[in-house]
Amino acid sequence: MARVIVVGGGAAGLVAAWRAATLGHSVRLLEANGRLGVKLRISGGGKCNITHDGTPQALLAAFSKAQGRFLRTSFHAFDNGALLALLRREGVETYTRDNGRVFPLDRPGSAAAVVAALETLARRAGVEVHTGARVTALKGTAPRLEALLLDGEALKADAYILATGGASYPETGTRGEILGWLRDLGTPVRPWFPALAPIPLQRPRPAWEGVSLRGGELRLSAGPGGRRLGAFAADIVFTRSGISGPAALELSQAVERARRADGAWLTYASVPEPPTDLDLVLRAEQGANPHLLAASWLKRVLPERLVEVLLQEAGLGPDLRLKDLPKAGRRAMVALVTELDLGEPQAVPLARGEVAAGGVELGAVDPRTMALRGWENLRVCGELLDIDGPVGGYNLQAAFSTGFTAGILG
Ligand SMILES: Cc1cc2nc3c(=O)[nH]c(=O)nc-3n(C[C@H](O)[C@H](O)[C@H](O)COP(=O)(O)OP(=O)(O)OC[C@H]3O[C@@H](n4cnc5c(N)ncnc54)[C@H](O)[C@@H]3O)c2cc1C
Repeated sequence: MARVIVVGGGAAGLVAAWRAATLGHSVRLLEANGRLGVKLRISGGGKCNITHDGTPQALLAAFSKAQGRFLRTSFHAFDNGALLALLRREGVETYTRDNGRVFPLDRPGSAAAVVAALETLARRAGVEVHTGARVTALKGTAPRLEALLLDGEALKADAYILATGGASYPETGTRGEILGWLRDLGTPVRPWFPALAPIPLQRPRPAWEGVSLRGGELRLSAGPGGRRLGAFAADIVFTRSGISGPAALELSQAVERARRADGAWLTYASVPEPPTDLDLVLRAEQGANPHLLAASWLKRVLPERLVEVLLQEAGLGPDLRLKDLPKAGRRAMVALVTELDLGEPQAVPLARGEVAAGGVELGAVDPRTMALRGWENLRVCGELLDIDGPVGGYNLQAAFSTGFTAGILG
């Protein structure tokens, strides 16, 4: 039986501690916050999208190739079915939405129920939980970690599992500092990088706050009319300072990379047709329905709240009828619908991401055990690893599965 210290009482740490304790080890779980699972509690807007439906292979395919390869063993050892069965035994029932996302049953505090279930499991298995315990340093040199510093005191164990998460939402306890300590100990790391975050714009449209553009595609290019660098087909929603919504979150990492390299420019295409086709459609409509208001035509494709402002932006009056629409006006209307200019993004905030990209390089970790290569008694799991999946329950499943693997100590 080994003495094990797990640092971080989030998704990965709770599962790692529970798993190690069920295997007979003596486990202490150190959590900086006053309570466990703070980020889990705010996940999915408090509803906690705990995993995604599908086979392990299907879930793995949602990650980048390298991340999927790394996660394979863990996703088979502790898949979504095993997670849901475990939670069900603790009274947490779940349901799957049409889009494959799995949530605890819709009732107030459903995310808290997931944390409570994991905490109960861990404590029942014998885990000693310490909250308000922020580790301030790692002591040792490869191949052995000698101790952790907590309130100036050196805590020693036979094995250490680091599950301190990423670096977004630092107010939830995840400040990301352990990555720097690991780097100083010689571990290859990739610096934290913003991901799954809202995108602030240089020229935001605060008057549009709350308006969604649906069913189209957010496009990223190197500049106005420049080379296409990426695209994501999903909704966006305007915020006071820019855009959010699924397409914005999924494209945010690429936007920030482009911003730091060649430059970035965003547009939103509300309809899939090329401008020339839509121009033909509009000309046909002008012939067939000359008295139709230009605004009414636009309302077929764009949210009502936007139409008036957009017409203004295009220099067209609200009472303009199709028959009076000049060629330049027609072109301007088509441009609004086919590719609305959102313009240049500002820096994507690391702190507001659902995950942080970057972390311990996957090549530095044995995917079968989560052991840090070159160390005998040190493991890492969860978002501290260089793993960032898309929105949809993938990131929590990665944290649960890698935590499970890390907890299997020989
Ligand atoms: C707003 C938001 C919504 C999200 N929604 C979803 C969702 O619906 N579905 C999904 O799959 N993912 C979601 N995510 C992502 C998901 O929550 C994380 O990927 C996941 O929680 C990572 O688990 P983890 O255990 O690695 O880290 P965390 O859950 O962040 O846990 C790490 C813990 O370590 C503690 N810690 C850090 N440093 C120290 C230290 N020095 N000493 C002691 N303790 C320390 C922290 O206080 C923290 O509690 C969301 C994230 C956010 C921010």
